[in-house]
Parts: sequence; C-alpha cells; structure tokens
Amino acid sequence: MAKVVKFGGSSLASAEQFKKAGDIIRADKNRRYVVPSAPGKRFAKDTKVTDMLYACYDLAEAEEDFSEVLEAIAARFQEIIDGLELSVSLEEEFETIAHHFREKAGSNYAASRGEYLNGIIMAAYLGYEFIDAAKVIFFDEEGNFDADTTNQVLSARLAECECAVVPGFYGAMPDGRVKTFSRGGSDVTGSIVAKAARVDVYENWTDVSGFLIADPRIIDSPKGIDIITYRELRELSYMGATVLHEDAIFPVRQEGIPINIRNTNAPEDNGTWIVGSTCQKSKYVITGIAGKKGFCSINIEKDMMNAEIGFGRKILQAFEENDISFEHVPSGIDTMTVYVHQDEFMHKEQQVVAGIHRLAKPDAIDIESDLALVAVVGRGMKSTRGTAGRIFSALAHANVNVKMIDQGSSELNIIIGVANEDFETAIKAIYDIFVLTKL
Ligand code: ASP
Repeated sequence: MAKVVKFGGSSLASAEQFKKAGDIIRADKNRRYVVPSAPGKRFAKDTKVTDMLYACYDLAEAEEDFSEVLEAIAARFQEIIDGLELSVSLEEEFETIAHHFREKAGSNYAASRGEYLNGIIMAAYLGYEFIDAAKVIFFDEEGNFDADTTNQVLSARLAECECAVVPGFYGAMPDGRVKTFSRGGSDVTGSIVAKAARVDVYENWTDVSGFLIADPRIIDSPKGIDIITYRELRELSYMGATVLHEDAIFPVRQEGIPINIRNTNAPEDNGTWIVGSTCQKSKYVITGIAGKKGFCSINIEKDMMNAEIGFGRKILQAFEENDISFEHVPSGIDTMTVYVHQDEFMHKEQQVVAGIHRLAKPDAIDIESDLALVAVVGRGMKSTRGTAGRIFSALAHANVNVKMIDQGSSELNIIIGVANEDFETAIKAIYDIFVLTKL
C-alpha cells in the first residue's frame, strides 16, 4: 500500500501548519510521496508566496529594485525553517533566484520557486528524498503537458526511492526552462505522481473537509459529500464548484486511483472520496448543486427548421467563427437556443447575429442576457423516479421562473436556466427539497 499526499498552501503556510502536515504524514507509513504547494495565507489578509513571487518578478522584469520583496519572501521561508528548528539554509538558493530574476528567467520560473523551496524544507523536515519537479515532469515544445515522457521518467525515478518529496505546480520544457501548470496546479502534480507511483490513494490535504453539496456562500453550513464519482465531479467543477484543480482528476482517473480530499486542520474527518464508480448510494438523491451566473441565450427561429439538414451546424458555425464556445443548445421544432458566456459574447454580439443571418437565414433572432445556469448532479437520479418533478415543483413554490431545462441522456445531471436574480433562490429551493426535507 502506498499513498501520495499533497498539501495545499494553507496547510503549509507556517511552521505550525507544517507540523500538522508532518504529524499526518508520520501517522501512516504508507504516505510515501509528498507533494507540497508554496506557503499560502496565514491569515485572511496575508499574501500567498506565489503572489509575492509574481510581484517580485514583475519588478525584476521592469528593471526595478526587487530586493526588498525577495527578502520578504526569504523571511517567509526562514520563519518556517526556524519554527521547525531545522538547520537548512536557503541562502544560496536565494542568490541563484536573484541571479535568474536579473537574467529574466520568466514568470513561470519565478512562480515555481515557492513550491521548489517549500519542497526542500519539507524533505529536510521529514527526512525524505527531494526530487526537483523540473527533472521529472515535462511539457512539450508547445507548452502542453507531456504525459508519456513524464510517466516514464517519473515512475523510474520514484521506483528508486522509498519516500520522496516532489514539489507541485511546475515541470520543465524540452529546453530545460521551467514551466508551471495554471494556478492551483499542485493538485495536478499530485495526480501525476500518484499515477507514476501507482499508489492506492491520492490524498489531497486542504483546509476544508471535502466537497460540500452546495456553495456555503449561498447555503448556510451545507452538508458534505462523502463519495462522488469523477464524472459527477467534472459536472460540478465545470459549473463552479472549486476545491480541486479541474485537470487533477485525469491522470488518476486513467489508473482508477481514488482521490481523498482531507482537512489538515481536522484530520479525523473522512473528507470526500472521489472514485471511478461506486455502488454506494449517496445519502441524498442528488450529490451536489452548483451553478454560474452571467450567461446569454440566443434564440433562433425558423419555420421548418427541424427538416433543414445542416441548420444546427450553420448556427454553431457563426459562434465558432467568432471564437465563442457554447454551453447548451436546447432546441424545439422551429427553434434552437444557444447558451453562451455573456462576457465572451457581449462584445461580439452583432457579428454573431450577422453570421447567423448570413449562414442560416433564420426568421427571427432573440437575445436575452443576465441568465444563470444551475446544475443538479447525482448518480442517484437515474434510478429515482420523479427527481425532475421535485426540482420543478420546488422552483415553482419558490417563485422561480425556469427558462431552460437540459437533461443529458446519462441522467447524471439536470441543468436549469433561470434569471441571474433567481440564482440563489433556485439553489436554496433545490437544496431544501433534497437535503433538508429529504422528500
Ligand atoms: N502555489 C500555486 C498557486 O498559488 C500552485 C498551487 O498552490 O497549487 O496557484
């Protein structure tokens, strides 16, 4: 049995947090591979080390004096080293970093140093081997993650060591230059390491006890999700539920490795299990609710539209030509509606409309803005009759007008379009009916 444990920035923001992480790792000898983030915020108004590094590098690039900011970054690390009573010195590392900043090594290199240095400290603290991610995680010439090369090199390297620390967030381009994943990318590194080491579990330690059924900013103390499938999670994270980086599920999903989201500040909580498939029923018919505001709907009408082969393609071509991706396309006999992100669409509105006229010659086009989409996700919906009925009666009781309904044939989710101003009410009504009243 082996586990990869990834710790997020808030779990490693101070020596005190580091100690909690250390206790967790030492409590289970299977926790052999550790992926740290850079130190995050110690308190609400604090600045993450990654953000300090970006700011510092901006000064370097503008040929301004960056020494003060770099010293403040060094002080953050020194505070951790002192608090852990380690004898590690990062002095030389900081000289190298300053040198590379002067040489304009790039903002990716700059940002990656937070994880790199935290990895050195973590390895010293645990007595684990340190593996620089730039030596084992690779991107291709275009900057895309090179999964095959990485898996080959990383598996071989991990096989050589019993226990290791691999810093999160970055890797290297073919020419050796450091490149980072997008923000929050240490989650992705954790998943890559889990795949390469073929571990049994990828534990992702953060500052919450897993996923919640709904956004706590909308629902007061929502219940947690014990177990969720990768597919359900994809649906929820696409609709705005955060905790884990979107791309983090792909490497482990291919290998069937479950992810366990855990709370560093409450290690006794089981957190959320993210799995390929499960026959365990969730406590409620639905697994989660998520949603986003800020959509537009473009409703296109044309008599006999459904008999005209290629009509849908022509409509979507008008969006493609303007580089706009569409979210949902519900259609009727003589109508087709396209949902798009308002901020992508607004400034190209008339170009798209002109394109639709040119390509598809519709009878009428009607545009509506300020719409929200709510996704109700749950593997349990498939085998439960009346789920949609319950959702819509709850919305009707809450006086929410439903503008669009889209249920994929997988019966894994139901997407509902409402006005932006009804968004919170809609989520509350759905949460109430399925979780509070458990009807
Ligand atoms: N430190 C990086 C960030 O702040 C990556 C991570 O924490 O996963 O985005």
